[in-house]
Parts: sequence; structure tokens; C-alpha cells
Amino acid sequence: MEGKSAARTLAGTNLGNNRDTTRQHNLSTVLGLVHSMAGVSRAQLTRATGLNRSTIAALVGELAQLGLVVESDLDQAQQHGRPSIMIQPSPGALALAVNPDIDAVSVALVSLGGQIVNPVRFHTVRPPSVPEVVNIVTAIYTGMRTSLPSRNRIVGLGLAIPGLVDPLDGTVIEAPHLGWRDQPLTALLSDALKLPVIAANDAVAGARAQATFGAGRDVSDLVYLYGGASGIGGGVISGGRLIRGATGFAGQLGHTHVRTGGAECNCGSSGCLEAEVTREELIAAVGLPAGETENLEDAVLEKLQDDSASEELRAIIDRQVRLLAVGLKSIVNLLNPSLIVLGGFLRILVRAAPDALSDALRSPGTRGPRENVAIELAPLGEDSILVGAAELAFEPLIRDPAGFLGSQDDGGGQVPPA
Ligand SMILES: [Zn+2]
Repeated sequence: MEGKSAARTLAGTNLGNNRDTTRQHNLSTVLGLVHSMAGVSRAQLTRATGLNRSTIAALVGELAQLGLVVESDLDQAQQHGRPSIMIQPSPGALALAVNPDIDAVSVALVSLGGQIVNPVRFHTVRPPSVPEVVNIVTAIYTGMRTSLPSRNRIVGLGLAIPGLVDPLDGTVIEAPHLGWRDQPLTALLSDALKLPVIAANDAVAGARAQATFGAGRDVSDLVYLYGGASGIGGGVISGGRLIRGATGFAGQLGHTHVRTGGAECNCGSSGCLEAEVTREELIAAVGLPAGETENLEDAVLEKLQDDSASEELRAIIDRQVRLLAVGLKSIVNLLNPSLIVLGGFLRILVRAAPDALSDALRSPGTRGPRENVAIELAPLGEDSILVGAAELAFEPLIRDPAGFLGSQDDGGGQVPPA
């Protein structure tokens, strides 16, 4: 999305006088477009940037030399006009994505263009400690590296945390469900893996993935709400930008108040959305054993088919949908998004009770922000969190491709010959 907004401002504007700055800006714009569109033709690049064909050819050539894009055969799908060479993100440019949660540590390599290469979900019997996460990630990463071709490059590690992260130094300020407080996980992983590490809240990472690749790709006002083992997090894109707030903590949508006198929340308040609408309640209602919780969606939908067993579960879902709608009404009134994307276990509430949520959100005769807001489901699984974590690591590369790789030329991210 960075790339797209940059492209919009690029055409017909003053590109600046400094040739290096202009070149860096243009390289960044082209790489951002190739990345977010996971492949683009030269003609599309020319149109999107307003740059001429020879400039685009030179920029693409430089990105190819840096190992970030590959030029492929002509675009076969093109029906008319001159055929154009397709430019794809290089599959060898990778980020390591990590998402620790209360019952598992998820690790994956993600290539430029947002493709998950080889996800690993390492189950834990209890919430992992910070040293345990470092050990698990180091072991998985060591295994992954040995099987990668030597020309591959891992540009960094993106860390999606179910909690509050200091935007300046990456310290995990608080991850209540993991029992972490003031933990230097970012620095410890960077030391252990010799990679740059950038951390953010998991739902914020998910929102970035949705905005770049997912349902929100062409939407500039989006609310992403993610329900995980550790509660409900959110990310807000407004006017095409991720809302950060004064100190980087904006988007704590899980703490939207939904019920007076409600359940106590770990934030010190009560009746928060994440205290009332929980994955644990659904897991208990279908009796899913630990270690099989990723099958929760199927398990819930299956049990609802069985009339005799479903009454209690149906009541829980109706209640959760009602309270989610209360929270969403506040969120929509505050932010006026055109699209709400629901990920994680929140998908289940929509699939188990189709239309109930949108009906509750849009009572008859509703005008204003709630009138036309659409609700979509993020793809099943933890993918948008991992893809979003990788986005954190790719951001400095896309911002200044040549400069970033130049600063890494000690070979830190380069995979050594096996
Ligand atoms: Zn709360």
C-alpha cells in the first residue's frame, strides 16, 4: 500500500532535485508495486508511476540486479496492444515471520509478494516464555536455512506479538496472556539470529497484510479485527494510512466497552469486547482438546449441524454476535470505515450465524456510517498475521532497496552455502 500511495503522488508532481533521492524514491515505488501486486507488467508500471518506458526499464534492471525482482515471459493474458514483460517479486527475497501465542509459536518464511513459503506451527503445552520462544525460533530457522538455495536472502524478521509493543525499540511492554512484561524479545532474537528484527502488535500486522494484499487492497478506510487465543486486537487504516496514535498504540479495539458490569478484563476495566467474546468459550463448548484448536471453525460448524448438541453452542454464538455488534457499532461510529475485515475466531461468528452481525449493525432505517459498511472475512488460518509480520521486515527494504541491501552487505542475511 505504501507503494500504491507513493505511485499516486508520483505522477505529475515535483520529483525533487536530488537525483539520488529521486532514484531511491522511484526504486521504492516500483518495488512497492511489484510487491503489493505480486507481479506487474512494464506497461502497468509505466501507467501507475507516470515514468517513461526507458526509466522503468532501468529501474527494473537495477532491482533485478539487486535480486529483488525477476523479469519473466510476456504477459500471455494480455488480449490487445503490445505484449509487455512481466516483473515478479523474486522468490529468493525472504522475510522470517514469527507469531508467539499462548498455545503455539508460528514461524514461516514469506517471500516478497506475500507468499508464505514453509509455515511451521510449534505447539506448546503452556504459554511459552521469552527464552523458549528464542530457542524455538532459532531451531526452526536453522533448519529452514540449511534447505534454502544459497542465492536466497533473508532480509529480516518480523515479529507479531499478542500485546503491546514499544514502537521505538521493539520491547514487548505487555503481553498479558503470555504473562510477559517489559521483555526484550526483539533484541534477543536479533542477537541469536543475526537479523534485523521489527516487532508490532499482531492485529496491527494483520491489518497491514489485509491493506496490502487482502480484502482491503483497494480500500482506504478499513478496520481489521482479529480474534486469537490471546484476545481481540485491531488495526485501523484511515485515509490509506495505518492509524498509529501519539505513542503508537492506537487500535486497541479489543478493549471497546460492550457490556456494563461485564467480565473483568486484563486491562483493569470490565465488559471489554475481548473479555466478553472469547475463543476459549467456543473451544469449551465444542470440547476441543488442546493441540487441535486450529480446527475450531470446522468443529463449531459441524456441531451446529447436530440439533441435539447445538443448543448451548447456539446460545453462546448468539450472545457473542450480539456483543460483537455492540462493539462494532462504536467502532464504526468513531471511524466510518467502508470495510470491516474479521479474522481468526471472529470468522466463526459470521459463518455460524450468516447475516446476524450485519443485521445487528444496520438496524432498519440506519443512516450515517453504519449504513453501507461491508463485512468480509479474512482468509482462514493465521496467514494474515504471518504475512503482516513479514511486511514489517520488508518495509525498510521497500523504502530504500539499494540502501538497505548496501547496509546488509556484510552478508548478515545472505544464506551461506550449505
Ligand atoms: Zn480491556
